[in-house]
Amino acid sequence: MQVIQLGFNLARKYFGITFIFFATILIGFVYYTYFATILPETAPNNPILLIISILFALWIMWAIGVTFFKSCYVGPGHPPSGLISREELQELRENPNYDSQFRYCKKCHYAKPERTHHDAITNTCILKMDHYCPWINNCVGYYNHKFFLQFLFYLCVGCLYACILTYPAYHAESGYSATSSSNETLEFIFILCVTIFIAVGFLVSWHFYLVFTNQTSIEFYENRYYKKVAQERGEVYYNVYDLGYKKNFEQFFGTEGHHWISFLWNFDIPKGDGVHFPKIDNYFKNQINLV
Ligand SMILES: [Zn+2]
Repeated sequence: MQVIQLGFNLARKYFGITFIFFATILIGFVYYTYFATILPETAPNNPILLIISILFALWIMWAIGVTFFKSCYVGPGHPPSGLISREELQELRENPNYDSQFRYCKKCHYAKPERTHHDAITNTCILKMDHYCPWINNCVGYYNHKFFLQFLFYLCVGCLYACILTYPAYHAESGYSATSSSNETLEFIFILCVTIFIAVGFLVSWHFYLVFTNQTSIEFYENRYYKKVAQERGEVYYNVYDLGYKKNFEQFFGTEGHHWISFLWNFDIPKGDGVHFPKIDNYFKNQINLV
């Protein structure tokens, strides 16, 4: 196991930055293509439409850049020190069934709060861990999951916008009048953007589903298992963190008291500590004994 861990760490050390570099080059290529090819070839004649089109493109580019940067450089969050007393930690270590709100991480030798998982690649405990993403060379957890989803969302919007602009070139019989060489470039951009839009679109839909149901990718599989066990026993299992789609959404994007649409420009770090989470009212009634 130690050899595998060492391999993971080495791969992460030498290839992690390469992935970020590659993703940055791709994003830079999209920016360049917009100004060098898409804009000159698809600019509307109406000056107002032209300004709106450029401003919209700039907003999308800025949002993609900010959310990608924050996904990479905002840490997912680790359990803070001083969470529990030394005596309680000792109890956890010696007796894993000790009735505590924390679990014990055998690798970090520390208390794991609820929703925290140990990540094998970074070899640390991650608050509300979702997954490790090589493209951002970072774990997606409590503090950066929001930025990760915003990044995917804006990437989808950007690709969709590029598809709309370049579709006439792809669909040549629509009367598009660009030169044949630029037409080929626009066709290539259209196909590339459709591909990215479909691939990332599935990922965005999946993560929005997790947000609305207040689960992480890891918890989704855990909850599915618990639901099956409960069903076999004739019981009903509830996800204790699922407060309803509206509250789940507000909790994730930190848009409490604001309109939902504010998640589009809210790039603040999520509120809360990643250690304590509100639960449904009948929390205790709905717990099933899985031991
Ligand atoms: Zn750990």
